[in-house]
Amino acid sequence: MQLTSVSVTKNESRQLKSDPLFREEVEALSGVNISRCYQCFTCTLGCPVAYAMDYRPNQIIRLCQLGLKDAVLGSSTIWICASCESCVTRCPNEIDIPHLMDTLHQIALREGVPPKEPAVPIFHRAFVEPIRRFGRQYEIMMTVLFILKARKFSFKDLRTNASLGLNMMKRRKLKLTPPLIKNLAAIEEIFEKAESGEQK
Ligand code: SF4
Ligand code: SF4
Repeated sequence: MQLTSVSVTKNESRQLKSDPLFREEVEALSGVNISRCYQCFTCTLGCPVAYAMDYRPNQIIRLCQLGLKDAVLGSSTIWICASCESCVTRCPNEIDIPHLMDTLHQIALREGVPPKEPAVPIFHRAFVEPIRRFGRQYEIMMTVLFILKARKFSFKDLRTNASLGLNMMKRRKLKLTPPLIKNLAAIEEIFEKAESGEQK
Protein backbone atom coordinates (compact mmCIF):
# COMPACT_ATOMS: atom_id res chain seq x y z
CA MET A 1 0.00 0.00 0.00
CA GLN A 2 1.15 3.53 -0.71
CA LEU A 3 -0.40 6.94 -0.07
CA THR A 4 -1.51 9.01 -3.05
CA SER A 5 -2.72 12.58 -2.96
CA VAL A 6 -5.93 13.09 -4.93
CA SER A 7 -7.69 16.33 -5.83
CA VAL A 8 -11.36 15.73 -5.17
CA THR A 9 -12.48 19.28 -5.94
CA LYS A 10 -10.55 22.43 -6.79
CA ASN A 11 -10.17 23.20 -3.10
CA GLU A 12 -9.98 19.74 -1.60
CA SER A 13 -7.15 17.23 -1.76
CA ARG A 14 -7.02 13.97 0.18
CA GLN A 15 -4.36 11.42 1.01
CA LEU A 16 -5.73 8.02 -0.04
CA LYS A 17 -4.32 4.49 0.20
CA SER A 18 -3.35 2.93 -3.12
CA ASP A 19 -3.70 -0.79 -3.86
CA PRO A 20 -1.69 -1.57 -7.02
CA LEU A 21 -3.63 -4.82 -7.60
CA PHE A 22 -7.02 -3.09 -7.64
CA ARG A 23 -6.75 -1.86 -11.22
CA GLU A 24 -5.90 -5.36 -12.48
CA GLU A 25 -8.74 -6.89 -10.44
CA VAL A 26 -11.28 -4.43 -11.84
CA GLU A 27 -10.11 -4.98 -15.43
CA ALA A 28 -10.10 -8.77 -15.05
CA LEU A 29 -13.58 -8.95 -13.47
CA SER A 30 -15.28 -6.40 -15.72
CA GLY A 31 -13.42 -7.02 -18.96
CA VAL A 32 -13.31 -3.19 -19.28
CA ASN A 33 -9.94 -1.78 -20.32
CA ILE A 34 -9.76 1.30 -18.08
CA SER A 35 -6.16 1.91 -19.16
CA ARG A 36 -7.51 3.42 -22.40
CA CYS A 37 -9.19 6.35 -20.61
CA TYR A 38 -7.36 9.62 -21.28
CA GLN A 39 -9.61 11.83 -19.12
CA CYS A 40 -11.40 13.74 -21.87
CA PHE A 41 -14.48 14.28 -19.57
CA THR A 42 -16.96 13.42 -22.35
CA CYS A 43 -18.60 10.77 -20.15
CA THR A 44 -19.11 13.20 -17.30
CA LEU A 45 -20.44 15.95 -19.55
CA GLY A 46 -23.20 13.63 -20.81
CA CYS A 47 -24.03 11.94 -17.50
CA PRO A 48 -27.55 12.93 -16.35
CA VAL A 49 -26.82 12.21 -12.67
CA ALA A 50 -23.20 13.43 -12.38
CA TYR A 51 -24.42 16.38 -10.30
CA ALA A 52 -25.44 13.98 -7.51
CA MET A 53 -22.19 11.97 -7.45
CA ASP A 54 -19.31 12.56 -5.07
CA TYR A 55 -16.82 11.58 -7.82
CA ARG A 56 -17.71 12.15 -11.47
CA PRO A 57 -17.60 9.14 -13.85
CA ASN A 58 -14.21 10.16 -15.31
CA GLN A 59 -12.85 10.56 -11.76
CA ILE A 60 -13.97 7.03 -10.84
CA ILE A 61 -11.99 5.74 -13.82
CA ARG A 62 -8.95 7.74 -12.70
CA LEU A 63 -9.27 6.46 -9.11
CA CYS A 64 -9.42 2.88 -10.45
CA GLN A 65 -6.31 3.52 -12.57
CA LEU A 66 -4.50 4.75 -9.45
CA GLY A 67 -5.65 1.75 -7.41
CA LEU A 68 -7.53 3.92 -4.90
CA LYS A 69 -9.85 1.13 -3.91
CA ASP A 70 -11.28 2.56 -0.67
CA ALA A 71 -12.27 5.81 -2.38
CA VAL A 72 -13.96 3.96 -5.27
CA LEU A 73 -15.82 1.34 -3.21
CA GLY A 74 -16.86 3.90 -0.59
CA SER A 75 -18.15 6.40 -3.16
CA SER A 76 -21.77 7.31 -3.81
CA THR A 77 -21.07 7.27 -7.55
CA ILE A 78 -21.05 3.50 -7.96
CA TRP A 79 -24.59 3.35 -6.49
CA ILE A 80 -25.98 6.48 -8.12
CA CYS A 81 -25.05 5.48 -11.71
CA ALA A 82 -28.36 4.80 -13.46
CA SER A 83 -26.84 2.52 -16.15
CA CYS A 84 -28.29 4.78 -18.84
CA GLU A 85 -25.29 4.09 -21.13
CA SER A 86 -25.03 7.71 -22.25
CA CYS A 87 -21.32 7.70 -21.32
CA VAL A 88 -20.33 4.51 -23.13
CA THR A 89 -22.17 5.71 -26.24
CA ARG A 90 -20.11 8.92 -26.29
CA CYS A 91 -16.75 7.67 -25.05
CA PRO A 92 -14.13 7.85 -27.83
CA ASN A 93 -12.53 4.72 -26.37
CA GLU A 94 -15.82 2.83 -25.85
CA ILE A 95 -15.14 2.36 -22.16
CA ASP A 96 -18.18 0.60 -20.71
CA ILE A 97 -18.64 2.63 -17.52
CA PRO A 98 -22.06 1.18 -16.54
CA HIS A 99 -20.63 -2.34 -16.69
CA LEU A 100 -17.65 -1.13 -14.69
CA MET A 101 -20.02 0.34 -12.06
CA ASP A 102 -21.85 -3.02 -11.83
CA THR A 103 -18.52 -4.76 -11.24
CA LEU A 104 -17.63 -2.22 -8.54
CA HIS A 105 -20.98 -2.94 -6.79
CA GLN A 106 -20.14 -6.63 -6.78
CA ILE A 107 -16.67 -6.02 -5.32
CA ALA A 108 -18.09 -3.63 -2.69
CA LEU A 109 -20.77 -6.14 -1.63
CA ARG A 110 -18.30 -9.04 -1.60
CA GLU A 111 -15.87 -7.09 0.57
CA GLY A 112 -18.60 -5.88 2.95
CA VAL A 113 -18.10 -2.18 2.20
CA PRO A 114 -21.21 -0.35 3.50
CA PRO A 115 -22.97 1.29 0.52
CA LYS A 116 -22.82 5.07 0.68
CA GLU A 117 -26.34 5.09 -0.79
CA PRO A 118 -27.93 2.24 1.21
CA ALA A 119 -31.39 2.61 -0.36
CA VAL A 120 -30.03 1.64 -3.79
CA PRO A 121 -29.04 -2.01 -3.09
CA ILE A 122 -32.26 -2.38 -1.07
CA PHE A 123 -34.22 -1.20 -4.12
CA HIS A 124 -32.28 -3.62 -6.36
CA ARG A 125 -33.28 -6.53 -4.12
CA ALA A 126 -36.91 -5.36 -3.86
CA PHE A 127 -36.95 -5.09 -7.67
CA VAL A 128 -35.73 -8.62 -8.40
CA GLU A 129 -37.59 -10.50 -5.64
CA PRO A 130 -41.06 -10.38 -7.33
CA ILE A 131 -39.47 -11.39 -10.66
CA ARG A 132 -37.92 -14.43 -8.99
CA ARG A 133 -41.22 -15.36 -7.35
CA PHE A 134 -43.66 -14.69 -10.20
CA GLY A 135 -41.55 -14.51 -13.34
CA ARG A 136 -42.58 -10.90 -13.97
CA GLN A 137 -42.54 -7.63 -12.07
CA TYR A 138 -45.28 -7.22 -9.46
CA GLU A 139 -45.06 -3.53 -8.60
CA ILE A 140 -47.19 -3.67 -5.45
CA MET A 141 -44.91 -6.29 -3.86
CA MET A 142 -41.80 -4.39 -4.99
CA THR A 143 -43.04 -1.16 -3.38
CA VAL A 144 -44.02 -2.86 -0.10
CA LEU A 145 -40.69 -4.72 0.11
CA PHE A 146 -38.74 -1.52 -0.50
CA ILE A 147 -40.68 0.46 2.11
CA LEU A 148 -40.29 -2.31 4.72
CA LYS A 149 -36.61 -3.02 4.06
CA ALA A 150 -35.56 0.60 3.71
CA ARG A 151 -37.73 1.53 6.72
CA LYS A 152 -38.92 4.53 4.79
CA PHE A 153 -42.56 4.38 5.85
CA SER A 154 -44.43 7.64 6.28
CA PHE A 155 -48.14 8.46 6.08
CA LYS A 156 -47.35 11.18 3.55
CA ASP A 157 -45.61 8.67 1.23
CA LEU A 158 -48.42 6.17 1.79
CA ARG A 159 -51.01 8.74 0.66
CA THR A 160 -48.90 9.69 -2.39
CA ASN A 161 -48.22 6.06 -3.36
CA ALA A 162 -51.87 5.06 -2.85
CA SER A 163 -53.02 7.94 -5.02
CA LEU A 164 -50.49 7.12 -7.77
CA GLY A 165 -51.37 3.42 -7.53
CA LEU A 166 -55.09 4.12 -7.91
CA ASN A 167 -54.47 6.29 -10.97
CA MET A 168 -52.30 3.57 -12.52
CA MET A 169 -54.96 0.93 -11.81
CA LYS A 170 -57.61 3.09 -13.49
CA ARG A 171 -55.40 3.20 -16.59
CA ARG A 172 -54.73 -0.56 -16.32
CA LYS A 173 -51.03 0.02 -15.76
CA LEU A 174 -51.00 -1.69 -12.36
CA LYS A 175 -52.58 -5.00 -11.39
CA LEU A 176 -53.81 -5.88 -7.91
CA THR A 177 -53.04 -9.59 -8.32
CA PRO A 178 -49.55 -10.96 -9.05
CA PRO A 179 -48.69 -12.04 -12.60
CA LEU A 180 -47.67 -15.64 -13.20
CA ILE A 181 -45.74 -17.26 -16.01
CA LYS A 182 -45.80 -20.96 -16.88
CA ASN A 183 -42.14 -21.91 -16.60
CA LEU A 184 -41.14 -20.52 -13.21
CA ALA A 185 -38.47 -23.22 -12.88
CA ALA A 186 -36.54 -21.62 -15.78
CA ILE A 187 -36.54 -18.27 -13.96
CA GLU A 188 -35.24 -19.91 -10.79
CA GLU A 189 -32.52 -21.57 -12.82
CA ILE A 190 -31.39 -18.16 -14.16
CA PHE A 191 -31.23 -16.74 -10.61
CA GLU A 192 -29.28 -19.75 -9.33
CA LYS A 193 -26.78 -19.45 -12.19
CA ALA A 194 -26.36 -15.74 -11.53
CA GLU A 195 -25.84 -16.37 -7.80
CA SER A 196 -23.28 -19.12 -8.38
CA GLY A 197 -21.45 -16.77 -10.81
CA GLU A 198 -21.38 -14.06 -8.14
CA GLN A 199 -19.78 -16.40 -5.63
CA LYS A 200 -16.91 -17.39 -7.97
S1 SF4 B 1 -15.29 9.59 -22.18
FE1 SF4 B 1 -14.04 7.73 -22.09
S2 SF4 B 1 -11.91 8.42 -22.42
FE2 SF4 B 1 -13.15 10.23 -21.91
S3 SF4 B 1 -12.91 10.47 -19.66
FE3 SF4 B 1 -14.77 9.25 -20.03
S4 SF4 B 1 -14.10 7.11 -19.93
FE4 SF4 B 1 -12.26 8.39 -20.20
S1 SF4 C 1 -24.29 4.94 -17.30
FE1 SF4 C 1 -23.98 5.84 -15.28
S2 SF4 C 1 -22.08 7.00 -15.40
FE2 SF4 C 1 -22.75 6.58 -17.50
S3 SF4 C 1 -23.94 8.40 -18.09
FE3 SF4 C 1 -25.40 6.91 -17.30
S4 SF4 C 1 -25.61 7.38 -15.13
FE4 SF4 C 1 -23.75 8.43 -15.85
